[in-house]
Amino acid sequence: MPGLHHVTAISGPPQANVDFYIGRLLQRLVKKTVNFDDPGTYHLYYGNRQAEPGTILTFFPFVDAGPGRAGPGMASAVAYAVPKGGLNAWMLALAEADVAFDGPSERFGEQMISLKDPDGLRVELIETERGTGIPAAGDVPVDDGFHSVTLWLKQPDRTARLLTDLFGYASAEQASDEGGTRYRFLAQGQGRGSAIDLLTSDAPSIGRQGAGTIHHVAFRARDDDEQQAWQEALRAQGFDVTPQIDRQYFNAIYFREPGGVLFEIATDPPGFATDEPMDALGQELKLPDQHEPLRERIERVLPPITLPRGRGR
Ligand code: ZN
Repeated sequence: MPGLHHVTAISGPPQANVDFYIGRLLQRLVKKTVNFDDPGTYHLYYGNRQAEPGTILTFFPFVDAGPGRAGPGMASAVAYAVPKGGLNAWMLALAEADVAFDGPSERFGEQMISLKDPDGLRVELIETERGTGIPAAGDVPVDDGFHSVTLWLKQPDRTARLLTDLFGYASAEQASDEGGTRYRFLAQGQGRGSAIDLLTSDAPSIGRQGAGTIHHVAFRARDDDEQQAWQEALRAQGFDVTPQIDRQYFNAIYFREPGGVLFEIATDPPGFATDEPMDALGQELKLPDQHEPLRERIERVLPPITLPRGRGR
């Protein structure tokens, strides 16, 4: 398993979401479509310029989503990779834009800052030598994609075993403070999005899915055959895995990992240039064939979005 394919979260109204991820975090909107199960709601995909797996953060912006809260059994943070030497430029740019952040601080020898998106989702920027970052040179890069996600778990053992025994991750680091313990696992190859952190916390908390929380975490399969092999291997271990579902830009299977987080395995193909040219990604509302006859009604229901100027576009 090479690492993350995408992370999907829930947000409130979409304008604040696009303003933050395009205008502040300089991501590219790589697809503007709808929730296939609820076509009156957008599904917004952000990624790097090439819309590559391991860079894709997606949102369901439910206009009336109540505020959520991360807790045990949920993914509680998503981290972007910043190339070595690039964190300073980010801190300057965020401070200039009046975006509050915590840090810099250190985690497993890497410098990082932590901020919250408009709905309270924790987003981290971690300076790293891993991954495929373009050189920083005082610039703020947009093409690096994910460093890691954090899964907040009551008890990490069985999730850890899934990562190591089935997915082939290596147990890499561990650190404790008064609040709990963080365990890091690294995928072979240690490329983009290759780290998963399991976090246990003594803080009494009950998570609630809602705006500002992560809905699921998706890993990568190179193609349908590889995905099917994962499906069989997971089922052989007793996991309740869905059949393959066509998500237009990838094929997906889903299962609940032992700690309670919804996991997905998504295929790299066909990718986001399957229904619009790579240089025009995210400009128009794209609908899958089954919803195309309803386009007029869907467009009337969806709130209008104005795309901010961002360097990722
Ligand atoms: Zn997904």
